[in-house]
Amino acid sequence: MKKYESSYKKLGHDFYSEVKPEKAEGAKLFAYNEELANEIGLNFDDGIDKELILSGNQTFLHSPISLVYAGHQFGHFNPKLGDGRACVIAESNGYDIQLKGSGRTPYSRRGDGKSPIGPVVREYLLSEAMHALGVPTTRSLAAVRTEEVIMRNTVSFGGVFTRVAKSHLRIGSFQYWAAKGKVEQVKELADYAIERLYPDIKNDKDLYLSLFREVAKKQVALIPKWMSVGFIHGVMNTDNTSISGETIDYGPCAFMDEFDYYKVFSSIDRDGRYAYGSQLNIIMWNLARFADSLLPLINSDTEKAVKTLEEELKYFNDLLVMNHKREFAKKLGVLDENYSDADDELVETFLIYLQDEKLDFTNTFRALGDLLRGSEEKFVQNDRFKKFKSRWLSRVSKKDIEKFTQELNLVNPYLIPRNHLIEEAIIQVNDNKYELFYELGEALKNPFQDNKDFAKFSAPPKENEVVKMTFCGT
Ligand code: AMP
Ligand code: MG
Repeated sequence: MKKYESSYKKLGHDFYSEVKPEKAEGAKLFAYNEELANEIGLNFDDGIDKELILSGNQTFLHSPISLVYAGHQFGHFNPKLGDGRACVIAESNGYDIQLKGSGRTPYSRRGDGKSPIGPVVREYLLSEAMHALGVPTTRSLAAVRTEEVIMRNTVSFGGVFTRVAKSHLRIGSFQYWAAKGKVEQVKELADYAIERLYPDIKNDKDLYLSLFREVAKKQVALIPKWMSVGFIHGVMNTDNTSISGETIDYGPCAFMDEFDYYKVFSSIDRDGRYAYGSQLNIIMWNLARFADSLLPLINSDTEKAVKTLEEELKYFNDLLVMNHKREFAKKLGVLDENYSDADDELVETFLIYLQDEKLDFTNTFRALGDLLRGSEEKFVQNDRFKKFKSRWLSRVSKKDIEKFTQELNLVNPYLIPRNHLIEEAIIQVNDNKYELFYELGEALKNPFQDNKDFAKFSAPPKENEVVKMTFCGT
């Protein structure tokens, strides 16, 4: 394989299409993540213009490719999707480098293949913030603003986003072939996934069952992590669930301010299928679709394969529930040698308290350190709070306050990318102003650190700033 060439190409032309990015008028590269480029061993040689490449205005060494896949969108199966506005332009040290918003491809259907600037700004800031928060995710390499006018729910300028991912394989990639009954292609894809993402299992006896387990293990760890920072993905379709276990496809996603277990931001999620609290059930539903796709590889006797995978799904559901409890026990600092069911009840009491009083999820958890020192300023007084306080304080009474506060502050962030700030940054970048975008990006690199300079970013939105709905904008 030539340097920077995509390893995915070896699967053959049935798995992708070669594409040529469309011209982007007035392209301006306004963000480039040098640190990430170094991390993945990418360097543009002298004489190569990053802006031309990352806007899609010039091809980088190899022909870009758009991948084919299928997927369940809001529960309904679509047998043919694919990268309708994206193409992988290179692979570096095992990482895909993909342009998003670079024009039409054979999978664009009725879309124009372009992206408004809004989703570019949102994905850049949110995925880097997620990374800094310790949540596995695709990363942001670059962001370009164009002078093209893009019409969606609003009219704005366009953009091109460069995403870095461990791979762009999705559950939907497997569903595409499984739905056609093409077992050989499912197997080729599975072998490729194992070689690229899970080489440690390649000598396992039940190879494809091991693949299922690896993917399931990653996903049942990921979703509780989202929930521990108040993240709502918004479009957990099976084509947006990654085989690598990275958070992928930042669309109408958002972090919640006030805690609400039933919270939905996405304008297209009318029934709340992907509400904050539903994310637990949905990931199991998506993993069941992955299991369906792998059935013939698990056992040629379908009945036996079904039985095996049902047992696996049950096991991973239990693991998911446990991971979820543990993430929250960590946030209360009670995931120690004395951790018990009573601690889970304590978490529940605290979350019901947040929900009832509509308290800010991030800031109220962060204030637990203050509560240790007797400061209750950030808490609303009520009976549930009093009950929680006395139980929690007695539960953690033996801990060293200084050290314990530090531990809590490493899991309860000071900063998250709040929607109203993201929206403001989008408006400004659309106007060719970058100050807020850069400042937010800087602040979100260290989300667990108290920093007076960035205190303004820790405040919840004022009533008139609250973002009630988010849009895909695709
Ligand atoms: P998403 O919900 O953003 O993951 O997108 C679902 C499907 O729509 C994928 O196949 C995308 O490639 C496709 N898509 C999204 N936006 C566009 C667009 N502007 N032009 C063409 N296809 C798109
Ligand atoms: Mg998608």
